[in-house]
Amino acid sequence: MHNQDQALIFESSTPGRIGYSLPEMDVPELDLSSLLPEGYLRSEEPELPEVSELDIMRHYTALSRRNHGVDSGFYPLGSCTMKYNPKINENVARFNGFAHVHPLQDESSVQGALELLYDLQQHLIEITGMDEVTLQPAAGAHGEWTGLMMIRAYHEANGDLKRTKVIVPDSAHGTNPASATVAGLETITVKSNEFGLVDLDDLKRVVGEDTAALMLTNPNTLGLFEENIVEMAEIVHAAGGKLYYDGANLNAVLSKARPGDMGFDVVHLNLHKTFTGPHGGGGPGSGPVGVKADLIPYLPKPVITKRGEEFVFDYDRPQSIGRVKPYYGNFGINVRAYTYIRSMGPDGLKAVTEYAVLNANYMMRRLAEYYDLPFDKHCKHEFVLSGRRQKKLGVRTLDIAKRLLDFGYHPPTIYFPLNVEECIMIEPTETESKETLDSFIDIMIQIAKEAEENPEIVQEAPHTTVVGRMDEATAARKPILKYQKA
Ligand SMILES: *Cc1c(COP(=O)(O)O)cnc(C)c1O
Repeated sequence: MHNQDQALIFESSTPGRIGYSLPEMDVPELDLSSLLPEGYLRSEEPELPEVSELDIMRHYTALSRRNHGVDSGFYPLGSCTMKYNPKINENVARFNGFAHVHPLQDESSVQGALELLYDLQQHLIEITGMDEVTLQPAAGAHGEWTGLMMIRAYHEANGDLKRTKVIVPDSAHGTNPASATVAGLETITVKSNEFGLVDLDDLKRVVGEDTAALMLTNPNTLGLFEENIVEMAEIVHAAGGKLYYDGANLNAVLSKARPGDMGFDVVHLNLHKTFTGPHGGGGPGSGPVGVKADLIPYLPKPVITKRGEEFVFDYDRPQSIGRVKPYYGNFGINVRAYTYIRSMGPDGLKAVTEYAVLNANYMMRRLAEYYDLPFDKHCKHEFVLSGRRQKKLGVRTLDIAKRLLDFGYHPPTIYFPLNVEECIMIEPTETESKETLDSFIDIMIQIAKEAEENPEIVQEAPHTTVVGRMDEATAARKPILKYQKA
């Protein structure tokens, strides 16, 4: 372990100490007062830390060690797929021909980059079972919105203007209803049954002439595969609606089942989850969207296509919903995903799913003795426990999450999905070894025992981190982002 208590250097500023050197000015000095309105001119020197270059180096290195990432430890954050990001992806993304292309270069001079994007589209078409794919959206939620805008455009083109409702199960990812709203559509919630799956009777009740689409997260946020998909597809299609598949967590079904074969019309993927784009700090991401043939006219433009031996941007798409991202999507993440797919191969991708599901089920079964398991079924890539047994002892799920920090683990997702009391959503991912899974399980068991025997140690956790329990609401609403002189 590193020394967490090491003081951050910025707080020990020494007047006159300098950490940089600039060359002599070789242009005339500007008179700023002639350029800026008076109110914007400083009257005093800014108060900045005065430190040496070495001090700055140590400051940022110390800060970086306070961060938790997949490269530093286990990160079982449910629904986020914090799995290992292979370093070969980084090497390939740094190739000059990829890293140094300019987005405004003529297509004839970036044929290699376009070929990679075109090829990636073909792989994703194969993986999802759809007819065409766009790589423009920059995140999962952005993909959802793009897909819904295409569905909207499709209904409008058919003069079907009353289709304004999107049916979203209560076990869906939280971004789904948000995307529907931003796309100008209205969300209708459909309930889960006692098995944690979409209640078909409730679905039949809400579906109708105003249905634009059903948006299904599969596996749902309980980590459960929706067993009645074919029936759901029939119900929604019979009513004239489209079927949207939230495929952010495709590592649960990759190379085993394809949304296209299940009857879905639109699917989005999260290349920054399943396909190993690093996403610890919130981005950049890539959320490609696949569609069936009747939605192809509405794809965002330009569409990357092949004409003869040449790769080109096709702007001649009169029914397109337009561009959804400047330039061509987050190219670097697409390069990483492409590298991942090519280096894994079809058998490797099949193994991904098998290990993701095996790891989650192994962990779920071993923990089920110590924590409540609200849905006692085989899970897919993740599973959900409830901390209600511990809550009766005065230990909340939040306390359990904080206690995990003492052992160097990133906590799981907590209090989501909302339909499980004191929810703990764990996604081990396929890249972790059995030893890592066992160590985490042992600590979770230890915490369950502490809740019974010594609840204070859990309630007051974390004990070993630089900062203890924070007032999270104030930290988010009134963050101190400026250097404050000690
Ligand atoms: C992560 C996730 C999303 C949202 O993806 P972002 O890239 O964070 O916008 C949507 N659905 C599911 C199931 C997810 O896990």
